[in-house]
Amino acid sequence: MKLYNTMSKKKEEFEPLEEGKVKMYVCGPTVYNFIHIGNARPMIVFDTVRRYFEYKGYDVDFVSNFTDVDDKIIKKAMEESISADEVSKRYIAECKKDMEAMNVRPATVHPLATEEIGGMVEMIRTLIEKGFAYEKNGTVYYRTRKFQDYGKLSHKNLDDLRSGNRSLLVTGEDEKEDPLDFVLWKPKKEGEPAWESPWSEGRPGWHIECSEMSKKYLGEQIDIHAGGEDLIFPHHENEIAQSEAANGKEFAKYWLHNGFLNIDNRKMSKSLGNFFTVREISEKYDLQVLRFFMLSAHYRSPLNFSADLMEAAKNGLDRILTAAENLRFLIANASEKSMDAKENEMLAKTREYVDSFENAMDDDFNTADAAAAVFELVKYANTTADGERSAEYLQGLLDLLVKLTDVLGIIVEKNEELLDADIEALIAERQAARKEKNFARADEIRNELLERGIILKDTREGVQWKRA
Ligand code: AMP
Ligand code: ZN
Repeated sequence: MKLYNTMSKKKEEFEPLEEGKVKMYVCGPTVYNFIHIGNARPMIVFDTVRRYFEYKGYDVDFVSNFTDVDDKIIKKAMEESISADEVSKRYIAECKKDMEAMNVRPATVHPLATEEIGGMVEMIRTLIEKGFAYEKNGTVYYRTRKFQDYGKLSHKNLDDLRSGNRSLLVTGEDEKEDPLDFVLWKPKKEGEPAWESPWSEGRPGWHIECSEMSKKYLGEQIDIHAGGEDLIFPHHENEIAQSEAANGKEFAKYWLHNGFLNIDNRKMSKSLGNFFTVREISEKYDLQVLRFFMLSAHYRSPLNFSADLMEAAKNGLDRILTAAENLRFLIANASEKSMDAKENEMLAKTREYVDSFENAMDDDFNTADAAAAVFELVKYANTTADGERSAEYLQGLLDLLVKLTDVLGIIVEKNEELLDADIEALIAERQAARKEKNFARADEIRNELLERGIILKDTREGVQWKRA
């Protein structure tokens, strides 16, 4: 199994630190709003990576944090006159709902930064003792130049960084020994959440959170550290500097980074305002479609979000779901007889598709090619499954389809739940029918919705609906 390591810029053979185990840390979101579909990309791709390791028989320890103390959270709390804690709790709960709807499995542990401050303070103390950090007026900085390997992940040279950073010196950061130094601990400002520390009442910098939580839940050395490619520098570079200086060991063996989800070929981001939340997409599509769309590209390639590509993903997914439904129907009606020799041979032929699926996934998780192998299997199922086949043969095909799609996190069962967008469309159709005095059709739609648990109420302001 090969995976691309940002550190070596090469595909490397995966060798776990401990036989049969994978220790994996994925940087999670900062929770001050609903997550957007750019944030969903690392969730979906690294959940798929986890699922594939499990498919291969590894026991995966998967840790992913929530950053629940941050300037953006504090700003949002002030705007809404509530506490930062209320903001983060609310959006963690919403994020978990989105994850579930995208079939992203909960991590083994989802640590919260605010619950791990004690460990961070300890790590900062160690860094000071070892000479890798210093305090100035209540702020603690990391002494970047002291860490010989700084820049090894992002392949940046310290002197280039320094010249790029020179302007910082004239913008009031001159209490740092060097413009490259970054913050480990900062004193609180009025109204901000704060914790006690030997240096000041304050809060940790963002980078130290992940170093500490990774160490606490996975140990000083881990197999895989992952996140979006914007985290390579400075976040992951700084994590390496902190963890390796404090622990005296290589931090992570493999560094995996997903490419951006773009819109009109620009990164989708909150600050640019060009984003869709996962929740918005869920009004129009089952989120399995979003998941399948994300996996239609290699995780390291940029992926442009468009209505056309979402439709293509929907059609592809439908083909798979329909094949599964067809198999279930045939199984329910098939004779109980067991497989004959010919069917045995026919089922053995599916090994070819499993091989292509595994070869694709073994090659740095090429989910696009893995999905192509699933389509080959679907085609084979559609051409060989009919009323003549034994239940055992049909079940063999279905089990295989379920096994492979499960690695991609796709559930091959049709979701019969009506989406908000479908309901709105039916209501519009009912209004049009009434306008044309086609009351029979209007009643039919009302009853159909009622059967599916949607109650309509005609008001002066228009039609309102609710789920029963
Ligand atoms: P943030 O909440 O900004 O720290 O982001 C959480 C995760 O989402 C990080 O791993 C980011 O790299 C990732 N991310 C943010 N925007 C995008 C995007 N447009 N495409 C892919 N990944 C993204
Ligand atoms: Zn992180």
